[in-house]
Amino acid sequence: MSITSKEASPRVALVTGTTSGIGAAVVEEFCRQGHQVLAVDFNGEGKAVAEAAGAVFFQANLTDADACRAAVDEALRRFGRLDILVNNAGIQHVSSIEEFPEAKWRQIIDLMLTAPFLLTQAAWPSMREGGWGRIINIASVHAQVASPGKAAYVSAKHGMIGLTKTAALEGGSQGITANAICPAYVKTPLVDNQIADQAQLHDMDEQEVIEQIMLKNAAVKRLIEPAEVASLVAYLASDLAGAVTGASWNIDLGWTAQ
Ligand code: NAD
Repeated sequence: MSITSKEASPRVALVTGTTSGIGAAVVEEFCRQGHQVLAVDFNGEGKAVAEAAGAVFFQANLTDADACRAAVDEALRRFGRLDILVNNAGIQHVSSIEEFPEAKWRQIIDLMLTAPFLLTQAAWPSMREGGWGRIINIASVHAQVASPGKAAYVSAKHGMIGLTKTAALEGGSQGITANAICPAYVKTPLVDNQIADQAQLHDMDEQEVIEQIMLKNAAVKRLIEPAEVASLVAYLASDLAGAVTGASWNIDLGWTAQ
């Protein structure tokens, strides 16, 4: 196959966190490109979203290690192999370190750092045997900078960059690439919830949160669309991106340029 081909080769992909937001947009884009997609989410409402796009849905709570392995097993059972893994599922909890509930800390680390590790580990043999693999981790601008009130999220996302780099080094000789995407605020339910939380934390109204906190460091003063992130995922998942690995890709409206 020519690496200069502009057409995507049909692949088998597993995407996590697909009921809404970035994950739903990635599933839609992959299906549009003709990939076979297993969409994994703990929310049963994700079934209709996945099937509308042309994907197969698998319900799993990814804070559970066995559920992570079961998701990969399901992709292998249904499609015979796994070529692309997109670790996207995530949650947020905003509170000061002093008041941060330990259970919330553990849930965030389990979902956003341990699950991507376990899914990568389970997917690896199929990618190695096929001599081709793409691991795409949806990190965050908070993988590079911190904000107050987000200790667990910032820690998990920084950890995800370490996992990405290690996977890139180990996968280089096996045709497996690993990259992270670092968006600033994307228009999704996760951000809608944060606007309310941040308003409470900083004693502001919701418009002030968007303008004075979320877009404070942005050169481009708007929220990002999920489809804009999905288009970068599609590039990183393509044959054309075979030389790109171990990198963090900012879609951050210029936040980290300063
Ligand atoms: P979202 O809330 O729309 O989607 C998150 C998805 O994860 C949902 O479908 C939810 O059901 C699923 N999920 C949550 N807990 C789960 C669990 N235990 N098991 C399985 N699935 C679970 O949010 P989003 O904004 O699309 O976020 C997707 C990813 O992008 C997250 O990792 C988030 O940290 C990252 N991100 C988002 C933004 C943003 O501004 N929205 C910015 C940077 C990074």
